[in-house]
Amino acid sequence: MSDDLFRVTLLGTGAPPPSVERFGPSTLVEVGGQKLIFDAGRGAMQRLHQLGIPFCDITGMFLTHHHSDHVVGFPDLWLTGWIGRPWGKRNAPLEVWGPVGTVQMMEHLPQAFHVDIRVRSKSYPPEGVKLAAHEIRGGVVFDRDGVRVSAFEVDHGGEELPAFGYRIEYRNRVAVLSGDTTFNENLIRHADGADLLVHEVTAVAGSAAENDAQLKRIGANHTTPEQAGEVFSRARPKLAVYNHLLLFGSATAEDLIPATRQKYDGPLMVGVDLLQIDIGAEVKAHQFEPSKD
Ligand SMILES: [Zn+2]
Repeated sequence: MSDDLFRVTLLGTGAPPPSVERFGPSTLVEVGGQKLIFDAGRGAMQRLHQLGIPFCDITGMFLTHHHSDHVVGFPDLWLTGWIGRPWGKRNAPLEVWGPVGTVQMMEHLPQAFHVDIRVRSKSYPPEGVKLAAHEIRGGVVFDRDGVRVSAFEVDHGGEELPAFGYRIEYRNRVAVLSGDTTFNENLIRHADGADLLVHEVTAVAGSAAENDAQLKRIGANHTTPEQAGEVFSRARPKLAVYNHLLLFGSATAEDLIPATRQKYDGPLMVGVDLLQIDIGAEVKAHQFEPSKD
């Protein structure tokens, strides 16, 4: 790949509901010779395979927080990506960055899967199933070949749940991923002037299956399109894209744009799985069309 490439692909734009249209939250960033995955929601392995990218090419994984919808796809990527088929072939340890709890998870996963690892280690390189965890506390967490990844704190339930957004910089171009958060000044600060801002969103309309207390809690931990509109109008990204759509009652993806327009009139898209955004002199989005196999 060209070493000038800076491409963000939404592998999954969903949330906990087990949708087949929107897989769990996961984002691939191909930048400057690195292939980094942020969050590992349900189906990330299938989406990566649709792109034709083997897991052995992935150079780092980053978790925004430990809600299960962001990590349940991790064992699939890690273990399926180790098997020596064209989509796997991993033969080097996998580095994983994430909040407190990441070391514990990466130490215990090999215990949970120890039978499979013991048996398959006879057929595949044992180095390829090793995990190297790094716990983050904000600031620069990755700096290789001109690619710099910084983590910044967001607010997804206060101190009870450590949660981060990520800023990825390369050759004066910047992509920012909000992670899961309610309206947050720290996010606005770190997203200032980004080329691309990928942002979570929640909306409720009509009567939802959830009770009022549940909706209140969810609303306090996520961002409405009206709030996101304020974030975008202050951060002024060249393109804002929604992911992690958390819709309740009769709310639809189509409702998100008009609600955001109350506060923001700049470039805006509602993300779908396998939307690719290339960050160059311009920021351009196109839909990746996978082959059927
Ligand atoms: Zn969450």
